[in-house]
Amino acid sequence: MKDEHHELPQDSYTDMTYAEADGILDDLAYYRTLMVNVGFIGKPGAKEWVLIDCGINHYSARIIEAAEKRYGRVPPQAIILTHGHFDHVGSAKKLAQHYDVPIYAHPMEMDYLTGKRAYPVGNSTVGGGLLAILSPFFPTEPVNLKKWIHPLPEDGTVPFLKEWRVIHTPGHTPGHISLFRDRDKTLITGDAFITVKQESSMAVFIQHQHVHGPPAYFTPNWQEAERSVKKLADLNPVTVLTGHGLPMDGEVLQKQLNHLALNFKELAIPKHEKKLH
Ligand SMILES: [Zn+2]
Ligand SMILES: [Zn+2]
Repeated sequence: MKDEHHELPQDSYTDMTYAEADGILDDLAYYRTLMVNVGFIGKPGAKEWVLIDCGINHYSARIIEAAEKRYGRVPPQAIILTHGHFDHVGSAKKLAQHYDVPIYAHPMEMDYLTGKRAYPVGNSTVGGGLLAILSPFFPTEPVNLKKWIHPLPEDGTVPFLKEWRVIHTPGHTPGHISLFRDRDKTLITGDAFITVKQESSMAVFIQHQHVHGPPAYFTPNWQEAERSVKKLADLNPVTVLTGHGLPMDGEVLQKQLNHLALNFKELAIPKHEKKLH
């Protein structure tokens, strides 16, 4: 960290609650920013760790607080973004300024992370729970992380994370990625699939676990999204951390993920979009 006095970013939610990451595996934890998860890869107390995604706006101080409880004042080696949607990069700029570490994303996501392009505006008739809850956090302009952003290597390796590999999972966004560790079949999906029904406000608040397709409002390419879900199901993940919803593991996860992959059109694609595919 650059600042000697350890000033936290000026953040409107700094002192609202006590922020702490929840453990999933000994070296994987997550912290929920309103209803979007960020991931911490690295055991508690480790000197080397990596932050996955940056949550919604106004949560940088809380993410830093959760990280400090786990790692002390050790900055992450890097930040890796699953994609550039506002709910995953909302606190990215403040976190990058605070930690001053590289941020990595897929080459096809670069334009959206350097202020060059905005994502297409979704069809709000397929909105619902997630959309309604996140709408106060909608940004007015695309994020610009030019100072810190680097493209992920083309060979699928992940900087600083030797055991992990990048799985390109487009559809939800062009450069959307998931991360997979073969050793114990751990998967971080971003929004390629999620474990909460995004159209239901109730499910979002109760955090009822169930495998669902990507958030509908924000997904422009359903054919690619379907291929991506099949690709992830073929990995037979044992443990998943998704961008929205609670982590899942074991047989229930595999059963529901395979069910989604096999019945993607009925289960994930919104009705009026089905006619188009
Ligand atoms: Zn998204
Ligand atoms: Zn999301």
